[in-house]
Amino acid sequence: MNTFTLIFLAALAISISVRIWLAQRHLRYVASHRDAVPAAFSDAITLTQHHKAADYTLAKTRLSFLQIVVETSLLLAFTLGGGLQWLDNALSGVFASEMTRNILLIGSVMVIAAAIELPLDLYRKFVIENRFGFNALTPKRFFIDLLMQTTIGVLLGLPLLFVVLWLMQAAGDLWWLYTWLVWVGFNLTLLAIYPTFIAPLFNRFEPMENGTLKSRIEQLLQKCGFTAQGLFVMDGSKRSSHGNAYFTGFGKTKRIVLFDTLLKHLEADEVEAVLAHELGHFKRRHVVKRMAWVFAASLVFLWVLNWLMTQTWFFNGLNVTSQNTGMALVLFFLVLPVFTFLLQPLSSLYSRKHEFEADQYAAVQTQAHSLISALIKLYRDNASTLTPDPLYAMFYNSHPDAQQRIARLQIAVHN
Ligand SMILES: [Zn+2]
Repeated sequence: MNTFTLIFLAALAISISVRIWLAQRHLRYVASHRDAVPAAFSDAITLTQHHKAADYTLAKTRLSFLQIVVETSLLLAFTLGGGLQWLDNALSGVFASEMTRNILLIGSVMVIAAAIELPLDLYRKFVIENRFGFNALTPKRFFIDLLMQTTIGVLLGLPLLFVVLWLMQAAGDLWWLYTWLVWVGFNLTLLAIYPTFIAPLFNRFEPMENGTLKSRIEQLLQKCGFTAQGLFVMDGSKRSSHGNAYFTGFGKTKRIVLFDTLLKHLEADEVEAVLAHELGHFKRRHVVKRMAWVFAASLVFLWVLNWLMTQTWFFNGLNVTSQNTGMALVLFFLVLPVFTFLLQPLSSLYSRKHEFEADQYAAVQTQAHSLISALIKLYRDNASTLTPDPLYAMFYNSHPDAQQRIARLQIAVHN
């Protein structure tokens, strides 16, 4: 057996074991804390609501085992199982042009993976979300969304893929650098057009009605020195009852979007505090910093891919004999997550640091106690667990635990 096959299998075994171990810990921890609301929340959250959060978390975590089985089987079927080589052989028999073959190879892998993961997604939305009363999607809307997402994905992704494959073949030794520049440009363009061209295809965005809430928010924006194109309310309720708020776009297209579901559940001062938290992310340049990390990582990955595509052991070790650019690209992105999985806690830690900073910003610009009550309502209404397994949370969670966030905000209240 090829040494790289062994390395790949070992990395895969490690990542699967860690995922299963963490999910099991999480299940045990949440179940064993199901029967008591943590003291800090006992005034605001009833035992019934706490039970719901635990059961919702358990249902989602149990589904993740199935997710691991499906993902791993698919990865092994494509690589060591010979699926990719079989696809490539089949396409070579029909299409003479290498570019067409490469695009179809990558396209087929994406379609097959999406088709196999579809039942899991359906189960998540129409069984779990339904059972806990969060789903507002009809099957019809689900499939219309899927069709539109696929169409947009093809319209945007196909030209990008064509350019990348062309650069890999024709741009010489520095193709990875040119590809990186194209990738950065593509992402920045997407970010600029998303709020005005893509998001409105899926949701209605109404300018916020004039009133006390709007003038309070405008005052807050002015105080924080923030200019945005507009303040919009989005009909998130047509898909789910989970509430949210976000900033989107950059430069001239920058806008603030509040879900209608958020406005329904929060008081004006709480909405203001949630917005101030989001503003904190902008003011502390978290979005830019995260983007810089993502771009830096993609440059490294492309450079590694440049090296790997000339290494026969990389292809043979994954049971592939066609050593060409399309195959290199698809193999690389299939196996990359296996090797980067253990970096997840670093990314989560970085994100949690930013969340604390945004909370601090909100505490200074608005009232810390308003953010505390907003957070409690959001945890309650979204049935987010208050008692995650500490190691599981450390590994995956992009947001600090409710208890930690509120404890830090309470220090701000007392100062
Ligand atoms: Zn945040």
